[in-house]
Amino acid sequence: MRAYDVIAKKRDGGTHTTAEISWLVEEFVAGRLPDYQMAAWLMAAYLRGLDPAETVALTTAMAASGETIDLAGLPRPVVDKHSTGGVGDKTTLVLAPLVAACGLPVAKMSGRGFGHTGGTLDKLEAIPRVRVDLSPDAFRAQVRRIGVAVVAQSAEVVPADRLLYALRDVTATVDALPLIASSIMCKKLAAGADAIVLDVKTGGGAFMRETAAAVDLARAMLEIGRAAGRRMSALVTDMDGPLGHAIGNALEVREAVETLRGHGPADLTELCLRLAGQMLILGEKVATVEEGVALARRALADGSALRTFQDLIEAQGGPPAFEGAGLAEAPIQAPAPAPAGGYVERVDALALGLLARDLGAGRATKSDIIDPAVGLVAHRKAGDAVQPGEPLATLHLARPDGRESLVARCVAAYTIGDTPPAPRPLIHAAL
Ligand code: URA
Repeated sequence: MRAYDVIAKKRDGGTHTTAEISWLVEEFVAGRLPDYQMAAWLMAAYLRGLDPAETVALTTAMAASGETIDLAGLPRPVVDKHSTGGVGDKTTLVLAPLVAACGLPVAKMSGRGFGHTGGTLDKLEAIPRVRVDLSPDAFRAQVRRIGVAVVAQSAEVVPADRLLYALRDVTATVDALPLIASSIMCKKLAAGADAIVLDVKTGGGAFMRETAAAVDLARAMLEIGRAAGRRMSALVTDMDGPLGHAIGNALEVREAVETLRGHGPADLTELCLRLAGQMLILGEKVATVEEGVALARRALADGSALRTFQDLIEAQGGPPAFEGAGLAEAPIQAPAPAPAGGYVERVDALALGLLARDLGAGRATKSDIIDPAVGLVAHRKAGDAVQPGEPLATLHLARPDGRESLVARCVAAYTIGDTPPAPRPLIHAAL
């Protein structure tokens, strides 16, 4: 096979065979196909598209490019969850122990935050001494012992995705649906779970702003997972405003603990219960979403979800019976006052996510160091009434420099009007 011919075929709108796609990925990962040829193919695929069979072939080849996680010896089925990323999305911190407390093992690999979105690993590492770099043996042993582990994906898993993503990032080929779907799903397939629940975000703070595009992405990922023999379901959920109130690592851990205590924000609690319901169905613990939600609600109410979270934190090196003590606190708290009274029409999740990143809660480049203490708490959300001068949010700052302009940015993320807005649904679609 010649790379030139494969590139030309896609350039001219042809359809690849599975063998062509596997060859391309294998040659690229082995270093025999130069970046410029892969970049040309990526642009051809971006412009011409990949059909479902080609997308499945690409995902499978990527998943097979490195280590796959062996979950042998764990009680089956093992169910995973993936969120496409958002602002204030601390769902995994609540959901993983919640589902484990319902008797379903959760062996989860998570990622770090990037750009305006937060990452579960950064949140976990805000807890004193917590480690996320467990060996595969320790990972499996922990899931067997306490039913849950949340760890970082090792560099040996899906090297093809790392290499391809780096190339896409600099060749304007990131936002192509089949390339996004295959990039997300190859990591999920390599992580070894039998069933996967997808939380595909939509709205201003999401990767897919439009609901129709999020539904298309969800469908493409469901198709890939099913073709690979995994049981799949997806929720398309709202990410127009932040999820919950807290944005920033230690602040989000505190909110997750409150949610596990049963006192969390309504949207975060509801989303965790719905996702738990989906996971429990795929894990064959319940027959309907309602049954799953009821089981999960009981695990929140009887304290078993919180205890499982505490077991998880202790097992990964953190303090025993952790309820928030020892989390870093920012030295400066700056309220962002409402410039006028009325109703909050919209809170711009993207603007707040970027603001939290610039405070030090996230990364603008991969090497940036995160400050776990900083971020913000959005006291008011879309639909809330507000009086002039009341705090819309509180910024948690590491230093006083630029305080006024940071507060102004936060205020600008809020749209205040005279009438309450039509509420956006939390769940836009269940697939
Ligand atoms: N997330 C991924 O993992 N890959 C993409 O291509 C886009 C979002």
